[in-house]
Amino acid sequence: MNLPKVQSIPIRWPRTVERLVVGRETSDGAGVRLTRVLTGGELQRRLDPFLMLDAFGSDDPDDYIAGFPDHPHRGFETITYMLAGRMRHRDSAGHEGLLENGGVQWMTAGRGVIHSEIPEQEDGVMEGFQLWLNLPARDKMCAPWYCDFAAAELPHFVTAAGVDVTVIAGESNGVKGAVTRAATAPLYLDLHLPAGASFTQALVTEHNAFVYVYSGMAKIAGEIVPMQRMAILANDPKADGVIVEASEETRVLLVAGRPLGEPIVQYGPFVMNTQQEIHQALADQRDGRLA
Ligand code: MN
Repeated sequence: MNLPKVQSIPIRWPRTVERLVVGRETSDGAGVRLTRVLTGGELQRRLDPFLMLDAFGSDDPDDYIAGFPDHPHRGFETITYMLAGRMRHRDSAGHEGLLENGGVQWMTAGRGVIHSEIPEQEDGVMEGFQLWLNLPARDKMCAPWYCDFAAAELPHFVTAAGVDVTVIAGESNGVKGAVTRAATAPLYLDLHLPAGASFTQALVTEHNAFVYVYSGMAKIAGEIVPMQRMAILANDPKADGVIVEASEETRVLLVAGRPLGEPIVQYGPFVMNTQQEIHQALADQRDGRLA
């Protein structure tokens, strides 16, 4: 395949690293081992509109085989990016899909879905990410929406420096992503940098942004970001973007979005604006009105 070579847009004042975050080992669903990189609480407010980032990766089926049986969501969107493996999704809105190597599933829970995410492999590596993106208050009770993108359907380009870029959401160097969202304007890039390469991305100053290094080692504004670290990028009013450099072969996620600035009240798989709305979600789940 002949991919277009894209000349990166120059950045005059790159963002610096505000701090590095180490993920927390945990398990979820029916015992899937994962690393919660973006946890709740204070990080959730700092990285508004992003609520959670889980990284999973194992070649031991015991770590993933049970998957995530039926469970509900309301009030936000889940974006699952599967680097390796096969996962079957089914939900109460009648959607079904198989998520495979390099594919993305974008699900808007809106007023509610009950879904399952179950591996369709008994051995081998399963590796990927699930990012939770908040919905603005006015959209939290919207109709559920769902779309699967196979790897070949995701917008993709290579820069002059040889950086391989998959544009899951937003826009990078003139290439539009698979999904755009007006309220939160999410940018979600997967970058594969060869040794010695650098990548520049324009970012709106007010948008919150982070980089997660899942392979190799990155350098941002002189700061080393080791593997399995999330670098929160400072919202310097002068800054117009970010420059990611790699001295060895490196793979990172670059994520940014417009903060909603609304109250966040989370109870497990429900993310609303008020405690009252959480009580309503629990009552709706109990009475079978959630989906
Ligand atoms: Mn789920």
